Amino acid sequence: MNIPTKNNLKRIVIIGAGFAGLQVAKKLRRDKFQVVLIDKNNYHTFQPLLYQVATAGLEPDSIAHSIRNIFKKTKNFFFRLAYVHYINTDKQKIYTNVGNLNYDYLIVATGSVTNYFGNKNIESFSLPMKSIPEALNIRSLILQDFESALLTKDIKEKERLMTFVIVGGGPTGVELAGSLAEMKKYILPHDYPDLDIQSMNIYLLQATSRLLDGMSKKSANEAYKNLKELGVIIWLNCLVKDYDGKIVFLEKNLKIESSNVIWAAGVKGAIIKGFLKEDLMKNRILVDDYLKTIKYENVFAIGDVAYMKSYPNGHPMTAQPAIQEGNYLAKNFNQDLNNRKDIKPFVYKNLGSMATIGRNKAVCDFPYFKLKGFLAWIIWMFVHLVSLNGVRNRVIALTNWIIQYLNYNKSVRLIIRPFYRKNHLKKS
Ligand SMILES: Cc1cc2nc3c(=O)[nH]c(=O)nc-3n(C[C@H](O)[C@H](O)[C@H](O)COP(=O)(O)OP(=O)(O)OC[C@H]3O[C@@H](n4cnc5c(N)ncnc54)[C@H](O)[C@@H]3O)c2cc1C
Repeated sequence: MNIPTKNNLKRIVIIGAGFAGLQVAKKLRRDKFQVVLIDKNNYHTFQPLLYQVATAGLEPDSIAHSIRNIFKKTKNFFFRLAYVHYINTDKQKIYTNVGNLNYDYLIVATGSVTNYFGNKNIESFSLPMKSIPEALNIRSLILQDFESALLTKDIKEKERLMTFVIVGGGPTGVELAGSLAEMKKYILPHDYPDLDIQSMNIYLLQATSRLLDGMSKKSANEAYKNLKELGVIIWLNCLVKDYDGKIVFLEKNLKIESSNVIWAAGVKGAIIKGFLKEDLMKNRILVDDYLKTIKYENVFAIGDVAYMKSYPNGHPMTAQPAIQEGNYLAKNFNQDLNNRKDIKPFVYKNLGSMATIGRNKAVCDFPYFKLKGFLAWIIWMFVHLVSLNGVRNRVIALTNWIIQYLNYNKSVRLIIRPFYRKNHLKKS
């Protein structure tokens, strides 16, 4: 991979430039280590705002940040655009599509992938939203559907095209449903005056008895109320059994006809081949209280992919644990590695969680208080703005939000890259 070996410096290889990988890479001391960061993309994705790309609220560039730009002028640092497909812990080597590389220490920060719970049909026909290309697929699909609905004379087909089913009532599902409902209310009637937009249906299906499982009951109830007001049809205790591209099959013989199912029902660790079954738990890499893998002294895992055995059910698969773990691990590496006895175990500090519902409402659960409504939305905006990488991205996002707030419009309703599905849309 064309990376020079420096005998006086140990090489730390980090796989993944997400929240966890970026944090550790930024904080590691380059006078002590040679740092090699590897990612399959040359940009970092700010996943919490993917739903805004999917619903034409933000341009994809404003939630992506060039990795090379973040680390420009950084000494003893190498970035390689590569997909890692295998790790050999005995040989201390990783294998990628552009070559192999030895490491002294390895940090796995590969995040997570969409979990379809083994259902191949759902995987084939539904749309995930884990990456920018996937969010763009959803954006194109929404707009293409309305273009197709204008043309078809088949009433059933029109209904299917205008019915959107979001599976998963966590923050992603709630935020997406709210944003789509606002498109229905404020934008689509103007864009498609010759379509009866009122016949558009937005379903939000949740397997458990409430929305926002990871948040307080109060916030869950508020989100439920706000989404209902926006016209979202919410079905709780509703388990999706199958989907064939046209019909969503539910328990108790219930069905919804829809060409558009967005799968936001779960994620699992992005595991690279080479780990054994006993290295994993619940599809994540088992780590001790120091984020070290159980068996391999020089291999660590952080972020969504890591499962800390001592923490009940592992840390939440959200940005805060990933960032805190990245910080913690860098601090440990920067200290004398031979003096591990002085190193304290990782302790996750829950700073709270939040979800936005539509254009000016949100719910926030902080450790000592809870907020809802407009103030919560302002805090949500502020937190997301400061968390975005790069001044340019912050300015663009803020400008977009102000414009959307003032004129009820979403500026990027463009089918730049048409989306072709395996089934009916291709021939329409
Ligand atoms: C739609 C959506 C909305 C979300 N909203 C929120 C929210 O509001 N608040 C919140 O706290 N969290 C939210 N999350 C979760 C949050 O984004 C994740 O918990 C966080 O990104 C985890 O960070 P990470 O560094 O572990 O992984 P990631 O940020 O996913 O980064 C993993 C990186 O590894 C790279 N990679 C993976 N496999 C390989 C490989 N084999 N070779 C090379 N590179 C590889 C990927 O390209 C990626 O850059 C959301 C997630 C999604 C999908």
